[in-house]
Amino acid sequence: MSEILNLENTANAYQYKSNSELRLSKRMFQILRNPFLNKIGGWLIVNCLRIKLPIKYLIKKTIYKQFVGGTDLDSVDVTAAKIYNFGVTSMLDYGTEGKNDEHGFDEITEQFLKSIEYASTKDYFPFICIKISGLCHVKLLERLDQSPRLRSGINDFETQSALWNQVRHRAYAIVDLAAKKNISVLIDAEESWIQDPIDRLCIELMQHFNKDKAVVYGTYQMYLNDRLDFFKMNHQAIALKNGFILGAKIVRGAYMEKERHRANQNKYPSPININKEKTDSDFNAAVDYALKNINNISVIVATHNEESCLFASQKMAALRIKNNDPRVYFSQLFGMKDHISFNLAKAGYNVSKYLPYGTIAEVIPYLMRRANENSSISEQSAQEITLITNELKKRLS
Ligand SMILES: Cc1cc2nc3c(=O)[nH]c(=O)nc-3n(C[C@H](O)[C@H](O)[C@H](O)COP(=O)(O)OP(=O)(O)OC[C@H]3O[C@@H](n4cnc5c(N)ncnc54)[C@H](O)[C@@H]3O)c2cc1C
Repeated sequence: MSEILNLENTANAYQYKSNSELRLSKRMFQILRNPFLNKIGGWLIVNCLRIKLPIKYLIKKTIYKQFVGGTDLDSVDVTAAKIYNFGVTSMLDYGTEGKNDEHGFDEITEQFLKSIEYASTKDYFPFICIKISGLCHVKLLERLDQSPRLRSGINDFETQSALWNQVRHRAYAIVDLAAKKNISVLIDAEESWIQDPIDRLCIELMQHFNKDKAVVYGTYQMYLNDRLDFFKMNHQAIALKNGFILGAKIVRGAYMEKERHRANQNKYPSPININKEKTDSDFNAAVDYALKNINNISVIVATHNEESCLFASQKMAALRIKNNDPRVYFSQLFGMKDHISFNLAKAGYNVSKYLPYGTIAEVIPYLMRRANENSSISEQSAQEITLITNELKKRLS
């Protein structure tokens, strides 16, 4: 229960790592939090790969090892099985970035179908993650985003282009197989200027597949100033009225600088909250709302923020929701915030790590985002370094 929840127990946090793996993690966070090394490293990686210098081995042994589960399903399975020994399951996330034509989108769909088949043969893959921008051209999403909006209600009069129908077809194939195989599908939230069609598709899929349980989860980014209301509207005006379970992955949001920059360039008001405190309070309010409506919302508390995790665990206790209630999951990215994940799991909560897999080329954009994130949240990386150092000292004494 929440009173005895200690997220800083380093023995629990790092039990799945050997001393040498821990030392590597420490070195990675030291490099990533240093703005100079981070910038130079990112530049070197991108340019060396472009001119085909043989640096893949180096990447594979360092940043890739820290944040990626493996190149293919068999190798990611080894990582997932290892952390499952300590009660933490995985969300399979295939690195889809970089494919840019209809053939490529079909290949990605095939890969998702394979990963669902694979996941269904194991106990530790309750979810797979998909990005709708991996199933179609971003330009198509941008065009659809300009059509009448879901922000004020469900849009049911959009002209369905042939291309959009293909995207829907791919998404339905993925979710249909997932439903049959008892796997849930998490649909990532992306930039606000392509998010409306993604939201529409999420709702459509939920309406179709979430009759008895959440097969499909949409993602709600609480750094957007309209998202808390939007989330409640999705529940009250759509899910309750149409009798389906709302699947909600609650996040703060990953594209803040990009959002602000674009708003500034195009001279429209930034959709991002006025400050971090507002994002934090909207995030906790969304978690609170979901837990209070647990009979028809399944929620994933997807965050590295300790306070939000503690807040959620306290709310669960107050609402008498069991730690292992299948309608509530906590989630952190693989390679980050192990102290939160493994201590929550030890306390009996459902925890699933977001576990990407793919070749280096396929996951490079993901790795670059992790590198940028870790330099911009340098305090949190400093905390990771301190916790790892403490654990190493304890092990060696
Ligand atoms: C399992 C998992 C899945 C995820 N899926 C997605 C996804 O589908 N789509 C997506 O966009 N992101 C996703 N993310 C990333 C997430 O949105 C955050 O970027 C990341 O988790 C950092 O936020 P935090 O909640 O961990 O906590 P914190 O580190 O406490 O918060 C940092 C976040 O707060 C917000 N913030 C910071 N400063 C300000 C400010 N001045 N004003 C307003 N807001 C501010 C930003 O969102 C920033 O990322 C996911 C994260 C996890 C762990």
